[in-house]
Formats: sequence, structure tokens, C-alpha cells
Amino acid sequence: MAEQIPDHDTVPYWKAKSLEELSPEEWERLCDGCGRCCLNKLEDWDTGEIAWTNVACQLLDGEACRCRQYETRHEVVPDCVGLTPEAVRTLTWLPPSCAYRLVAEGRDLYWWHHLVSGDRDTVHQAGVSVRGRTVSEVGMELEDYEDHLVDWPGEDPGGVDATEETAKWSVWKK
Ligand code: SF4
Ligand code: SF4
Repeated sequence: MAEQIPDHDTVPYWKAKSLEELSPEEWERLCDGCGRCCLNKLEDWDTGEIAWTNVACQLLDGEACRCRQYETRHEVVPDCVGLTPEAVRTLTWLPPSCAYRLVAEGRDLYWWHHLVSGDRDTVHQAGVSVRGRTVSEVGMELEDYEDHLVDWPGEDPGGVDATEETAKWSVWKK
């Protein structure tokens, strides 16, 4: 869906404000809709290392890259981590391309972000989103997650031994 192109003569809100200063509406609009944070992550108990999988949360629409039940998601997925400014600054697994992380780090949004391009499809066209690249967690055993390690969400799973026991890992969900 096309959106209004921002006026580049003025400083856009994500540059003018800190995360704490954003209104609820500005906060929600900042999400690029990539869906990467809705993939299951595995965390090494010993080292804290994060390994990404392409196993999507049961509520993620893998084509739209949107939560099917965003407003009431915690009724279905109680461990879905709600993002806050503090969470953005402390979570180790937010994708490096995440708009919240970029703003928290004082960086600008990429060209494909809808607030820059004016088009919510550019995140998909640029190959940044999870569209068409996920499998659902529904019916999948936890021990099988290690067969779905991927590095494209932005984290390098190098060094992760996919043969180690599943009990070694905690599962993170946005
Ligand atoms: S990774 Fe960040 S920008 Fe992408 S969907 Fe998640 S919260 Fe939104
Ligand atoms: S991780 Fe959270 S926001 Fe993402 S699809 Fe699941 S419930 Fe929705």
C-alpha cells in the first residue's frame, strides 16, 4: 500500500526524536514489516550466542510478514516479547536491519523502509523480509529447530554446532 512520501526538507521524526519520545502511532509506524524478529532464535546456554532459524512463530503470516493477531497476540503467544525502548537497547537478537535498532544506534533507515520509500512493498522487493522463506513452528518438535538454522536474518550462525543437543538452547520469540 502506497504511503505519503516524507518531506525531505524537514527532519523526519525518527531522526528528530529518540525512541522514548515517539508517540504510540510513530512507534508502530517505525516497524519495517520485515518479520525477522518473529522467527525462532536459539540461544546457547553457555555462551549466550544467538542462532537464527527460519521457523516462524505460529501467528506470523509468512507472506504478509505480519502478525495475524497482533493486538491480542499474548493470549496465544505469551512469550512474545513486546518491544520497548529499553528492550531495543538490551535485546541481543534484534536483527541489525531492524528499524528500532537502527534508530537506537543513531543510524538512518534504509532506502527500502516504507517511511523512506513511501511503499510498504519495498522491504519485500529488497529481499529484506522473511516473505516466502519461513516454515511454521506448528507441529515442529523443538529438537528439529536445529535443522532450520539460517544466517539471512542478519546473524551469523557460524560456530554453532547444529549437532549439539537441543537442551543446550533456549528459544526466543519476539
Ligand atoms: S525486526 Fe524490527 S522492523 Fe522488522 S518486523 Fe521486527 S520489529 Fe519490525
Ligand atoms: S512473535 Fe509475536 S508479533 Fe511475531 S507473529 Fe508471533 S506473536 Fe505475533
